[in-house]
Amino acid sequence: MKALVYGGGQLARMMYLAGCPLGIHVRAVDVNKDQVINPISKTPAKVTLAEAVDDADVITVEFEHVPEHLLKLADETGKLKPGITAIRAGADRVKEKNLLASLDIPTSEFRVMSNVSELPEIVEQLGTPLVLKASRDGYDGYGQWRLKDKSDISELSLALSKLDLHTVPIIVEKMINFSREVSLVGVRSQTGEFAFYPLVENHHHEGQLHLTIAPAPQITENLQAQAENIFKKLAEELDYVGVLAVEFFQVEEQLLVNEIAPRVHNSGHWTMQGADTCQFENHLRAVCGLPLGSTELRSATAMVNIIGCGSFSRDMLAIPGCHIHWYGKTARAKRKLGHFNVSASDKATLSSRLLELQKHLPEESFPLLKSLAENLQ
Ligand code: ATP
Ligand code: MG
Repeated sequence: MKALVYGGGQLARMMYLAGCPLGIHVRAVDVNKDQVINPISKTPAKVTLAEAVDDADVITVEFEHVPEHLLKLADETGKLKPGITAIRAGADRVKEKNLLASLDIPTSEFRVMSNVSELPEIVEQLGTPLVLKASRDGYDGYGQWRLKDKSDISELSLALSKLDLHTVPIIVEKMINFSREVSLVGVRSQTGEFAFYPLVENHHHEGQLHLTIAPAPQITENLQAQAENIFKKLAEELDYVGVLAVEFFQVEEQLLVNEIAPRVHNSGHWTMQGADTCQFENHLRAVCGLPLGSTELRSATAMVNIIGCGSFSRDMLAIPGCHIHWYGKTARAKRKLGHFNVSASDKATLSSRLLELQKHLPEESFPLLKSLAENLQ
């Protein structure tokens, strides 16, 4: 089988690698150039986009910010999985929030702002503190602003006045005082079966995911059930096929949806070592119409993102259960260059392996690792 993936980053690369043993050939598309590329070498393939679209059995995405003409091209062939509505909802926070509201799914209270002059009134209605997010093209915390209290209004209004809010409105939402962030990665097959990985705990620094602990500590049946019910509601509404990620804020025993990602997700990378079938394989299985693989946990696993830090020795590979996944990208500040997966049969061993890993890495690039590892014990 042949799959065409819109987007040529690390997610397409890991889909390609997962496709090899299945006999599924994955090609990627650089969506900025409308060019078909090899997902590993990134070199142009010897086919046109039209030929690759025609040749593919299925077309999928590794990220949601795909230009509209490419989405339509894929949609018209009937091969696009997940479907265009799901991808558009993931790409546009206005659509995403409206979808959540229409399904009565708890999320932070919000307003859509299409003119900066509306800000004082919105602050009046929602109170403070607030988070403002560009409705499109934001990722890793880019395109976000914080408003602590009313005294920030004028300075923020000035900064936002440079943007065209009429074309790209801003979502203004209440800052949630959450106890932690968790996410659910799951998959729905073409015939409507579901498989879920356990809820995982995510740790961010400066708006970017740095660490995922799988499974999330202290997950009650109630929390897992809340997450799965929300996932099912969304996936059924969207007639979803493939892997979907739902990011949550936990407030006491309630989960509020932060956002959804209609694709494989950074908080699912731990599955490459920690689960029976990894998220990349399960996504390919689903979109290609194959039976889903077991999502059963193999061992507690921590995923540690390698961000901005391009050179270090590989001595940590001597740590039992420690694996590196390197994306082959040029190092740049804040750029995700790879990740470690560290597995162990119990949390105490996982903790000591992470502390060992931390000794091999510069603390400034892995600012959360030490204290998290200590707190796992
Ligand atoms: P990513 O691509 O990493 O998922 P993103 O740019 O899509 O990030 P969000 O997930 O919406 O943006 O926000 C990034 C982080 O900012 C969240 O994981 C959370 O830590 C914080 N954040 C966002 N919205 C809120 C909120 N309403 N209340 C509190 N914290 C928030
Ligand atoms: Mg997010």
